[in-house]
Amino acid sequence: MRHKSSKIFKLLSIFVFLFFIHNLFPQSDKIKLTKTYKKSDSKTEIRSPKKKSMVSVETLRPKRELPSKSKIKNPFSRLARTELIKIYKQEDADFEILYSPQIKIVQELKTCFIAQVKSGYSSNLSQAGFKFEHLDDDIQDKKYYLVYCPSALEAERLKYYGDVKLIEENLALFWSDNKEAREILPAHFQIKRLPGEALHSSNKRSLVLSESLHPTIKLPSRFAVDPDVLDIVNQVSKQNLTDYIQTLQDFQTRFASTFSCELAGDYIYDFFIQSGVEAEYDSFSFASGYSSNNIVGTLEGQIYPSQIVVICAHYDSISDQPQTLAPGADDNASGTAAVMEAARIFADQPFDFTVKFICFSAEEWGLYGSKDYAQEARQRGEDIIAVINLDMIAYTDSIPEDLDIISNQASEWLADRFFSSSIAYTTLDISKIVNPTFVWSDHSSFWDRGYSAILGIEDIYISNPYYHTTNDTIDTLNLDFITEAAKASLATAADLAQPVSTPQTPTGFTSRSQIISSLFSSIKTAFLDWDSNQDPVVGYNIYRTTSSHSDYQKLNSSPLVQTYYTDENLDPDTSYYYVLTAVDSLGDESNYSKEVVDDEENENTNSIDVRALSRNLVRTILAVRKINPWI
Ligand SMILES: [Zn+2]
Repeated sequence: MRHKSSKIFKLLSIFVFLFFIHNLFPQSDKIKLTKTYKKSDSKTEIRSPKKKSMVSVETLRPKRELPSKSKIKNPFSRLARTELIKIYKQEDADFEILYSPQIKIVQELKTCFIAQVKSGYSSNLSQAGFKFEHLDDDIQDKKYYLVYCPSALEAERLKYYGDVKLIEENLALFWSDNKEAREILPAHFQIKRLPGEALHSSNKRSLVLSESLHPTIKLPSRFAVDPDVLDIVNQVSKQNLTDYIQTLQDFQTRFASTFSCELAGDYIYDFFIQSGVEAEYDSFSFASGYSSNNIVGTLEGQIYPSQIVVICAHYDSISDQPQTLAPGADDNASGTAAVMEAARIFADQPFDFTVKFICFSAEEWGLYGSKDYAQEARQRGEDIIAVINLDMIAYTDSIPEDLDIISNQASEWLADRFFSSSIAYTTLDISKIVNPTFVWSDHSSFWDRGYSAILGIEDIYISNPYYHTTNDTIDTLNLDFITEAAKASLATAADLAQPVSTPQTPTGFTSRSQIISSLFSSIKTAFLDWDSNQDPVVGYNIYRTTSSHSDYQKLNSSPLVQTYYTDENLDPDTSYYYVLTAVDSLGDESNYSKEVVDDEENENTNSIDVRALSRNLVRTILAVRKINPWI
């Protein structure tokens, strides 16, 4: 829990701080302080590709030019030496230090964070109340991977290939002289390349969250079966899913770096085009020698095209003979098939929000395709509401099989939505598992960039004996199970994207907020406004929540006739999220508008704002005071 100082103390501290900042800090530092964490979230240098001998690169057809990725100087690289450390999550520690420019948190796990820290700075963590451990003394020129180790024996085996540090139960950090892990580790190891970029966090408190041990499922307050969603679910075809999986398997191998993996990408691209969704190749380079494509299908939203729902799966595969035979029927022709079926069916249905159908490549190399995509989406400022990632949804080790839905804490609302859609539209049983350490598929790349994402998988502990072998073929799959899993996934995506309905979803919804401080108190006021509906409506309803995308409560007792609303007497330390509906003369209510947060339109990006001072920088003073007691 965060410590709340008394209002008077807070105010006094602001004055102390203003004095402090005016006298002690040079001009440039003022801005640095208000920007804090996001600043280090920049793209790191891309290595120029070198040819590799493992696969004949000449056999690859020339690809579209990679978008030029400008070299951005990483301030970290100029520092003397950078260590890799593990910081234990501790709720009572002063987490403000985690936003210090000297500390770059690159991975959130269940019990800890992995961070890069300037040599010698880590002792400050102890002063802030954090326990930490050194993992490696100098990160220069090393490639680190997270590797799933279900047993001590597996961890011992891993040591044969390079350096190993156990981080958490079943999870090891692995590195080996800048070698690509996928080229030296046996195929059965699940890996993720450790990000080199700071974790994106739009909400600072997300950094102190820990696993919720007993997740409960919350059903949305407003849930009714939507005939358009039901129609979509009824169109899901077991025969189509079977055909897609068979075709993907018939490429023999889809191991990223091989020619036939690229051909499989072309097949998906052509399928999207034929289905009537826009498609593009999203090229990326990986493993400093290869390039491949994510295949991205887009169905633009009718009301809020910049709000995006993603349904995705990786189409690449692996086995112990990856160059020649990696059928990857369960892993992951199954998830890819569900995404393709979504594109085929959704193409005929207009939605409020944009839907993207993405098939990622080089997942098996350590999540390279999704990492590239999520990072660029964040840099473009894309408003991705939700990511539904499907990876291995067709093997059943027992009947009835349930689908495991894996989420981090920030994405729990999405797991709940998946659960409620499954109940409403399918016979599928769901297990909700909240565990940020489960980083073994593409959802993890979106978690790293601060987006809500879930993974649908047949079993969190792999039960498929053919996993990552040449025997992962369609004849081992349960095609009834994948059909139900696909139905639940499509229902969830459609429900999130909102089939267009009447009255029309209100548009132009914006909000900004203002904090007024007097000597003894400060309160926040949120100002909301929106466009007048084109359909004849009798008014509008406003809903509010303090936890994004769930628990919306209606604020007005009868429909508002005006197109603005002022929400007063709010707590300055809390973020408020709003959605809006329109009501017609029959009493029918529209879909929700996009969700807005109260300070979305505030103009405070480059100036010092009082709210930031009071909330964050006072704590910085306190932290400085701890370190330098004479201040
Ligand atoms: Zn997979």
